[in-house]
Amino acid sequence: MSELRWNPVLREWVATATHRMDRPQLPKDWCPFCPGSGKVPEEYDVHIYSNDFPTFKTPPYTPIIEGTELFQVQPSVGVCDVVLYTPEHNTTLARLPVDHIVKLIRLWKARFEELATREEIHYVFEFENKGEVIGVTMPHPHGQIYAFPFIPPKIQTELDSAKAHQERTGRCLFCDIMNEERKDGRRIVGENDDFLLVLPFYARFPYEVHIFSKRHLQDFSQFEEREIRSLASILKFILLKYDNLYGFSFPYMMVIHQGPTDGANYDYFHFHIEFYPPYRSETKLKYLAGCESGAGTFINDSSPEEKAELLRMTEPLSL
Ligand SMILES: [Zn+2]
Ligand SMILES: [Zn+2]
Ligand SMILES: [Zn+2]
Repeated sequence: MSELRWNPVLREWVATATHRMDRPQLPKDWCPFCPGSGKVPEEYDVHIYSNDFPTFKTPPYTPIIEGTELFQVQPSVGVCDVVLYTPEHNTTLARLPVDHIVKLIRLWKARFEELATREEIHYVFEFENKGEVIGVTMPHPHGQIYAFPFIPPKIQTELDSAKAHQERTGRCLFCDIMNEERKDGRRIVGENDDFLLVLPFYARFPYEVHIFSKRHLQDFSQFEEREIRSLASILKFILLKYDNLYGFSFPYMMVIHQGPTDGANYDYFHFHIEFYPPYRSETKLKYLAGCESGAGTFINDSSPEEKAELLRMTEPLSL
């Protein structure tokens, strides 16, 4: 069914989830996330739906295989939620009013705080995959929350870098990145009172945009009401720009990077959101090919300065 298998070569966990292969092909005219399906409340604004085919769950599945010293096995304990953004089937996050996006962020915050208190959960990962090219099977607007029993490797790398930078300079790595981006200016896409929107110097994807909180915060639990509203409006701002780039609803992965919830101190970390859109032009997709998948080095065949300028010039209008 599902277990964690240790890869001793890359020193990372791989989650198997063989039960996900049995996911039913849903009928085209029925959506479990729409009111009236019997699976969600008759009325809701935003809603946490517990995943029908979770990779992580509490109590966990029994691993189907026994580990050895080299090939370690752990149960996939944790939580997998689906976050329903709206009862409306045919819309997107970009098209929701700011007041509604505020409700979504309050839900992200509340669920983060709830999961953070749980002993078995070391990392709360909130994200969205959008668009068929990303592999999304359910068109109803939604995101997901994976609550991990360990700190995922990409986050661990960010933590290690931030810690090393702090020890070396006494400053926050992400605050320094923001200052450096401001000094240069060419890659700034936008900002408001509380957040900065940057297509960073080191972007892997042509339209990779990061949102940094201006205050040095680690996670949603420290957000003030004003910041929730500011984040909602800057989210809408960048998503509308994305949609207006080529005149179609722009697919992306949106990932929220917060500090871990394993009880240790991560005050050197800094809250941010990253977007990885798969398009590199109006018709061409970027694939993770040999160099990216086999060597771990991304080839970004465009200049972040040019793409940032293009995004700056694109109007944030509703399609
Ligand atoms: Zn629906
Ligand atoms: Zn900082
Ligand atoms: Zn990050």
